[in-house]
Amino acid sequence: MTENEIVIVGAGPAGLMAAQILAENGHKVHVYEQNKAAARKFLVAGNGGFNLTHSEQIGTFLEKYDAEEIRNIVECFNNQKVIDWLADLGITTYTGSSGKIFPTRNFKPIQVLKAWLERLEMLGVTIHYSHVFVDFNDAEIYFENNQQQTAVKYSKLILALGGGSWKKTGSDAKWMEILSKKNIGLKPLEPANSGYNTHFKFTTLQGQYLKNIRLTFQEHTKNGELVFTKYGIEGSPVYYLNRFTRPFEFPLTLYIDLKPNLSEAEILGYLKSSDRISAVLKKQLKISTTALNLLKTLDKETYTNVEILARLIKKFPVEILSFRPIDEVISTAGGVSFCELTHELELRKYRNVFCAGEMLDWEAPTGGYLLQACFSTGFWVGQAVSNSLKPH
Ligand SMILES: Cc1cc2nc3c(=O)[nH]c(=O)nc-3n(C[C@H](O)[C@H](O)[C@H](O)COP(=O)(O)OP(=O)(O)OC[C@H]3O[C@@H](n4cnc5c(N)ncnc54)[C@H](O)[C@@H]3O)c2cc1C
Repeated sequence: MTENEIVIVGAGPAGLMAAQILAENGHKVHVYEQNKAAARKFLVAGNGGFNLTHSEQIGTFLEKYDAEEIRNIVECFNNQKVIDWLADLGITTYTGSSGKIFPTRNFKPIQVLKAWLERLEMLGVTIHYSHVFVDFNDAEIYFENNQQQTAVKYSKLILALGGGSWKKTGSDAKWMEILSKKNIGLKPLEPANSGYNTHFKFTTLQGQYLKNIRLTFQEHTKNGELVFTKYGIEGSPVYYLNRFTRPFEFPLTLYIDLKPNLSEAEILGYLKSSDRISAVLKKQLKISTTALNLLKTLDKETYTNVEILARLIKKFPVEILSFRPIDEVISTAGGVSFCELTHELELRKYRNVFCAGEMLDWEAPTGGYLLQACFSTGFWVGQAVSNSLKPH
């Protein structure tokens, strides 16, 4: 048995950040990871544009999180601190047109990870790969490695095991069973940053984008780009609304505003100016081809009634039936309830055991907010553990 270590389980962004903070404070850290390599999901996130945080002002930035506890932690290790931390690793960043922060184009995701792992190695952090966490008690943690069980005696334990989507990256959420057997309160994992299955299948529109639209559910609205798929809709305004539709029973209705900058009266004015509806839509209202195709899914009677058409351009209903399957979505909501944790993110039932990252019960839209909160909670528990080890 290995003696009295600071143990971190999960070599994702949250676990690696906690390791860095502890190592920088002079502690020997052992990270255990079930995969043969670190941060697989981090690399997957890099496939579609490596959006590490967002440049938004901190006030509106924090509103993106549903949990007060996470807001406080993100405020402490904020977006500027993420940029500074990357710069310290030698990774330069730039702000994209939407305010998202990316590494400059000369840095591929794998290079960002490599720079980070090299820094951790330099700081003396040891990563043990192919170790599957299977259980723990208040003194030991148990791993399976090559069909053998290993016990590690810990002084402090940080669990950073991720959410429950994209299982092939290692985030399989098997920890839910381990923690629930110990009566630790968990909120069930649910799809977040998910597309919706829709009632009407927009078969003729598959793969087409609606740009500069506004999507609304009740009083919640988000501008952006929406894409039609074979099952329904995807896109950043869709992901933003996930959190607000979650408490309700499906089916629900979302509304697309195809012309957010014009009022219904203005649109009606244009439509009344000519009998050639499609020409007015295209030439005067500058409705995009996709938006026009969407309007053409209406029956002829509706399409030719300018009053109804103007109303529908501002409020096109889309009935949503469900989220997409959990394994294919970007992140998950739910996880370890904050009432189970102290201010330091230490489990109340297991002192010396801390939790960080997506496994905690919070959610946020894509756009850098997810990784930001993983970095921030990793920082937070790293500091908390380090402080708890200081001689009093
Ligand atoms: C397709 C996609 C695109 C994304 N794009 C973005 C984006 O652009 N911006 C953004 O902010 N976020 C994005 N994300 C989300 C972001 O990648 C995650 O929120 C983040 O990686 C979570 O970090 P984490 O450290 O909490 O967990 P993870 O990254 O999931 O890491 C957890 C680690 O724990 C290990 N582990 C789990 N169980 C065990 C066990 N029993 N034993 C040992 N090890 C275990 C796993 O193997 C894994 O390595 C994206 C995600 C996906 C899937």
